[in-house]
Parts: sequence; structure tokens; C-alpha cells
Amino acid sequence: MDCVFCKIVASEIPADVRYRDEEVIAFADINPVAPTHLLIIPRKHIPSLAHLPDAETPLIGHMAKIANQLANEEGIFESGYRLAISCGEQGGQEVPHLHMHLVGGRQLAPTLG
Ligand code: 5GP
Ligand code: ZN
Repeated sequence: MDCVFCKIVASEIPADVRYRDEEVIAFADINPVAPTHLLIIPRKHIPSLAHLPDAETPLIGHMAKIANQLANEEGIFESGYRLAISCGEQGGQEVPHLHMHLVGGRQLAPTLG
């Protein structure tokens, strides 16, 4: 499958991987918008949040749990951070493989979009 994030999961292209387990991996965004900018993604190819099967909804909770853990490791657990999932064209999703952004390490803008 010609999916850049599937290729990162398969170690076919390099990434700065910070976490991995049976369900998800997390790695540094190649174009960070803040001092901390990590992406948490499922190993399984799910094109977007809108494609998440009902049976897979616990995956989002797991991704949020790992994001909290990584925020702690990054030293931003107390100062605050943002989790974001872009979905579809007008949602600004560029990579069609479900991913959660973990962004922090500076004061973020109060608005989304
Ligand atoms: P989206 O706009 O789809 O929510 O976010 C996609 C994110 O993936 C962007 O922040 C972009 O910088 C990041 N990204 C795209 N291609 C790569 C890549 O090959 N490696 C890494 N580490 N990040 C990527
Ligand atoms: Zn994929």
C-alpha cells in the first residue's frame, strides 16, 4: 500500500520513533509546529477518524493515553498541550492514515482552524 505512515510502521522509511506497542506507534512530526510535535498512529491502516469501525473506538482512548504518557516524557504534562485529529479534506487532513497530533512546549493559539 502506498501510504507514508504504513511505510513508517513497516520501517520502510525512517522516522524518529518515540513509542511503539502492538496497536500504535508514535514518532516526531517531520515538520513540527511547536517544540513538541508528535504523531500517534495505529499500526493498522485506517484512512481517517471517519473510517473508524465501531469496534475500534477503544483505539482512540489508547492513543490519548499514549499521548498523555508522551506529554509527561516531553515535560509538558503540567504546562499543557493539545491533541488534534484532522479528518477529511475540509478538516485539513493531509495524510490519509488516522493520526493524532500531540503539540506543546509553547503557548498555543486559543482557536482551532
Ligand atoms: P495532517 O495534516 O494530515 O493532520 O497531518 C499530517 C502530518 O504528517 C503533518 O504535520 C506532516 O508534517 C506530517 N508528515 C507528513 N509526512 C511525514 C513523514 O514522512 N514523516 C513524518 N515524520 N511526518 C510526516
Ligand atoms: Zn497507512
